[in-house]
Amino acid sequence: MSKAKYWFERAKNEHFAIGAFNAASIETLKAIVGAAKNLRSPVIIEASPGEAEYFGIKELVGATRVMEQSNGVPIILNLDHAPDYDHCRVALEAGFDYLHLDGSKLDIEENIRQTRRLADEAHKKGVLVEGEIDNINVLGAGSADHRGKNIDVVRDPKYYTDPAKAADFVEKTQIDTLASFIGNVHGMYAQTKNINLDLLREIKARLGQTYLSLHGGSGIPANEITAAIGIGVQKINVNTQLRLAFRDKLKETLDAPGPPAGGEVAIYKIMPAAIAAMQAVVEEKIKLFGSANKI
Ligand SMILES: [Zn+2]
Repeated sequence: MSKAKYWFERAKNEHFAIGAFNAASIETLKAIVGAAKNLRSPVIIEASPGEAEYFGIKELVGATRVMEQSNGVPIILNLDHAPDYDHCRVALEAGFDYLHLDGSKLDIEENIRQTRRLADEAHKKGVLVEGEIDNINVLGAGSADHRGKNIDVVRDPKYYTDPAKAADFVEKTQIDTLASFIGNVHGMYAQTKNINLDLLREIKARLGQTYLSLHGGSGIPANEITAAIGIGVQKINVNTQLRLAFRDKLKETLDAPGPPAGGEVAIYKIMPAAIAAMQAVVEEKIKLFGSANKI
């Protein structure tokens, strides 16, 4: 059994979720791995195609594997929201453990064709595949600071996942995980991001043993996260809260008047405070997701 499969099975059987945190730099990697090590938790490190390109896809695999070994933390490396088979294929060759083919912008038949092809190839290597039919960002939300925006502008229940369509998609593609859309838009908003737990129960009932992911983890109330895990979510994606923690702390560091922080030019002295701020977010999420003390 592959590492990814092992941890998703444990998450399913022991009712916890594995945090999936986006990393686009060595600072984010340090924060995520530091938190996982402190709390003895498995972790999913992921990069969107844009983040992976910025880091370098081979460089990301190399850095992740070295940090995994040196810290004794199981890391599942995931390509997040890849738009098609070709992007996933590159990551599969590079040594990723998990691939999220977000074909929600493709025609459904084309989405099924590409996702099935990927699943067939990935499964031979023990790599897990996540599929998506309902575009979580259909109304334009992204993993960003939307706190000046009303959440109702970027989400409409008519786009939420239809359990019957989801079951059909899973059967035709043989994916391991479905990215369900139950109100979990990406980003942070002025309002709390409530999700439709009844719909999640229906999806779970239709999909049986298929794993479920919950994107847009930033800003969902803690009690709804806990309920979603109880219903059967095994992977929760968090990006925006890390980005905000990094940006806010970095700005505070650079804006501080005088020494020790203000006026500092050495990168290795500027960054630790921002890394610590991100690590605090990751630790809070790991505790909430119930994955602490599993290794
Ligand atoms: Zn996402």
